[in-house]
Order: sequence, then C-alpha cells, then structure tokens
Amino acid sequence: MIVTRFAPSPTGYLHLGHAFAALTAAKSGDRFLLRIEDIDRARCRPEYEAAILEDLAWLGLRWEKPVLRQSKRAQVYREALERLAPFTYRCFCTRKDILSAAGAPHGDEGPLYPGTCRNLREERDAPCAIRLDAAKAAAHVGPLTFEERGRTVRVDPFRLGDVVIARKELPAAYHLAAVVDDACQGVTLVTRGEDLLASTHVQRLLQALLGLPAPAYAHHRLIVDAQGRKFSKREASGTLRSLREEGLTASEIRAKIAL
Ligand code: GLU
Repeated sequence: MIVTRFAPSPTGYLHLGHAFAALTAAKSGDRFLLRIEDIDRARCRPEYEAAILEDLAWLGLRWEKPVLRQSKRAQVYREALERLAPFTYRCFCTRKDILSAAGAPHGDEGPLYPGTCRNLREERDAPCAIRLDAAKAAAHVGPLTFEERGRTVRVDPFRLGDVVIARKELPAAYHLAAVVDDACQGVTLVTRGEDLLASTHVQRLLQALLGLPAPAYAHHRLIVDAQGRKFSKREASGTLRSLREEGLTASEIRAKIAL
C-alpha cells in the first residue's frame, strides 16, 4: 500500500506547478492525503486554503479525510523539538549577520549558516531560532541513505548546514514539521519537486534522530512557463483560477502539463 501526500502552503493561489505536483502525488500511490502547511500564520491566509481545496477538487482530485493542518499541531512539534534538544542550539543571528559573515560557504539555498552561535555560552533574553547541529547529529546517527525512485542515495548531512528547525514565534520550521507529519500521516512515498531534493538530506537526518520511519522519495521535474521560468505564487498568470476563468477545463490543464 503506497501512501502519498500533497502539502501546499496557503500563501497564494495554486498554479500549474502545484497542479502537476498534486496530480503526480495522487497517481503515484494507493492512498492520497492532503496536508496544509500553514504553520507560519503571518504568511498564510484562510481564503487561500479554501481556494486550494476548491481548485484541487475542480482538478478532479479526491483525498482522504481528515486534512492535516500544521497550525493545529504546535504541541506535537514542541515535543519533537524537546527530543532533539541534545542536537540543537539557540541562534541569535539576523539574516544580515549571516549574509555578512566572512567566508560563509554556499549551499543549495544560499549561504550556509557559518556556525556563529554554535558554541555560545552566555544566556540572552532575545528572540532566537533553534538550529540543528548537523555535525553532532550526523555523528550520533552514523551514515544514512534514502531511496529515490529505487536508487539508494547517500545522505549528506551538511548539504543545507545547520538548518533552523524552530523560531521563537514558530514551534517548528518546515523541515521539522514535515518529517513529524509525514510519519504521523503514515506517508510511505514522498513525491515533490526536485527543488526540494536538498531538503531530503536534512529531513532524513531528522527522521533518524527522532526514530521515525523513512519514506521513499520521488522528486519530480518542475513545470516551467513559456519563458522557461518556474511558476510563482506571486504572479497571477498560470494560477488555476485564472486559467479556469479563461475557460480551460480540468482535462485541458492535465493535457497542458502532460499528465
Ligand atoms: N509546503 C511545501 C511547498 O509548498 C511543500 C513541502 C513538501 O512537499 O515537503 O513548497
């Protein structure tokens, strides 16, 4: 029994790229689940969530109930964070501090965290983020792999550096919430865009630290527009709503993305 999921964040309307991701997830498994990644309340809007459900149904997708909403799961994330405490540290750096740190090495998503707060001793009463100490974590769990479309990939625990896994105002950041929820939902195959391949390395590490089962992965290509650019939620063009208003049918959308 293959269990897949689609996990959009309600920060905008779904576009063709999302349609491709959702349809790929649905056709790759026997059971298809939905998860609303609305943990960052400041960026999410209820009308986008309603639009997501409406657009997916219009596309002809059906998912199992209940829909998991990350905004309701703060307590579960806090417990996971506590269990990770031996492998985490508090970080007080601003984005600017990180960008200006001399010689910060670069990763898939910009500069890797240079480790400024890793060995901080003093207590400070200031907003902070919680980071995973990748070296400590890797030493604890030993070598890891994940399955990518039947191929075994060796995990690089340093691929994204010491990632943020929680912030003062957020009980969990994306990586932590995603692994806790994939396990809770019993997802056995994570299908998502290849832009998230680097994330899988750190997520596999978190799974091992938390003793969670490792799903298989299938990272798919990204759909691009006529200019070869990825679709973005910031642009109205290519949203499923605008295409629907132009008169396109769900089967025409499927044909457009060759599904
Ligand atoms: N919420 C993420 C996004 O919208 C997807 C995360 C995932 O599939 O793991 O990009």
